[in-house]
Amino acid sequence: MHDVAALLTDELGDAVSVDAAALAAARSDRSGHESPAAPLALVTARSIADVQAVMRIATSTRTPVVVRGAGTGLAGGAIAGAGEIVLSTLAMDQLLEVAVDDEVAVVQPGILNGRLNELLLPHGLWFTPDPASRAISTVGGNIATNAGGLLCAKYGVTRESVLGLKVVLADGRLLELGHRTVKGVTGLDFTSLMIGSEGTLGVIVEATVRLRPLVRGEVFVLSASFPTVEAAARASAVITASGLHPAIMELIGDSAMAGIVRHLGIEHPGGPQLIIQFDGPGAHDEARAALASVTSLGGRAVLSDDVAEGERLFGIRRSFHAAMAAQGTVLIEDVCVPRSQLPAMFAAIGEIESRYALTIPTVAHAGDGNLHPNFVFEGTEVPEVIWSAADELFLAALRLGGTLTGEHGVGLLKRRWLRDELGDDQLDLQQRVKAVFDPLGILNPGKVF
Ligand SMILES: Cc1cc2nc3c(=O)[nH]c(=O)nc-3n(C[C@H](O)[C@H](O)[C@H](O)COP(=O)(O)OP(=O)(O)OC[C@H]3O[C@@H](n4cnc5c(N)ncnc54)[C@H](O)[C@@H]3O)c2cc1C
Repeated sequence: MHDVAALLTDELGDAVSVDAAALAAARSDRSGHESPAAPLALVTARSIADVQAVMRIATSTRTPVVVRGAGTGLAGGAIAGAGEIVLSTLAMDQLLEVAVDDEVAVVQPGILNGRLNELLLPHGLWFTPDPASRAISTVGGNIATNAGGLLCAKYGVTRESVLGLKVVLADGRLLELGHRTVKGVTGLDFTSLMIGSEGTLGVIVEATVRLRPLVRGEVFVLSASFPTVEAAARASAVITASGLHPAIMELIGDSAMAGIVRHLGIEHPGGPQLIIQFDGPGAHDEARAALASVTSLGGRAVLSDDVAEGERLFGIRRSFHAAMAAQGTVLIEDVCVPRSQLPAMFAAIGEIESRYALTIPTVAHAGDGNLHPNFVFEGTEVPEVIWSAADELFLAALRLGGTLTGEHGVGLLKRRWLRDELGDDQLDLQQRVKAVFDPLGILNPGKVF
């Protein structure tokens, strides 16, 4: 039997911790779920060489490794348990290069998304992926989950902003994937394969990301209350179909709004809400056209060009997760449907609520058709009735041409539905690809597959 913690300490010194509190913290992420026991050691890597050393020791001792960024994931992907090494990339947090002429930056994986954008501001550039957790989540974690966010309807998800990666394989070898050119089609696209791979194929140790010029000009925010959530969803689908391009379009269902109102101690704006932001050239005309659509579809709408008011409204939306977590343990779902099917998906959720006598507070990145229905319960075990309702919810999304997870990933919590979406042949192929990269199965075992 190897003393893995001792081997790690011999090689990496004080980068290795077996402190009980540090190990306990790695048992959970923001999904609200926890592993039954603590991992064996936490390594805070400071360099690519540190990551390689950990992976060589893990390979030689057949020890599982759970890579961890900021631990803000909502699918249980970074949760570590007994006998596992936690490999944190949080301290590898430097912006290594900004190439203004090429609109490219090179970053270490632990840099926080919000921090990267603060550093890019003086260059007039930004990294567009903007998960609501941008202030607290790492770019490495964003890449490993292919994170989305509020602005991705117009500016794309993380995948659209990654050109190249350095990745340490399970056996410690370092790969350089992709390119720093706008185009590049040499060989198979392993960069894309890594994006969203949730720590199961390799450790992302550096990223070359694509930047955009900051969007100039006025920003308009339209907020509207609707009599029903289906009416709000219909308005969102009509706006998409009419060729308008909101930068943000968020929908807050009735019970979700009630939870936020209680949590923040604010006044209820009355009914389900649709909050839409337009930016860039033509923003004013687009906002006026959206206002006309929303009003004709029964929404009571207000249009504003006040930046502070926009921040206030999106602040309300961003507080949804905290509002739910304040009520109990949360199982947050992440289905995504074609945008035209948003009204049908909300109708399906309403029908599941009545049949199971449950309340399912739901918000949606309506501009992407990505819904977050939440189940809130007491204790740590998900009650069977909630698994059954969640099961129906996923199947409804699949029937509407949708997917199990739009942005949070599969992690631990969505594994049970993977076969339903991928089918036997694709799941088998994916498992075999995983085995090529990680033949010993030591990278994030039990997650995704
Ligand atoms: C309040 C709140 C709001 C959120 N809003 C959004 C949202 O709008 N959109 C969205 O997409 N998500 C959102 N999330 C979820 C979460 O923030 C994202 O999934 C984020 O990308 C995770 O980053 P992290 O650094 O915390 O990664 P972690 O949680 O530490 O890890 C997530 C996964 O990535 C893997 N990983 C992490 N770093 C690496 C690496 N260097 N190499 C290989 N694998 C790695 C881990 O093994 C794990 O599987 C939200 C979370 C919270 C708490």
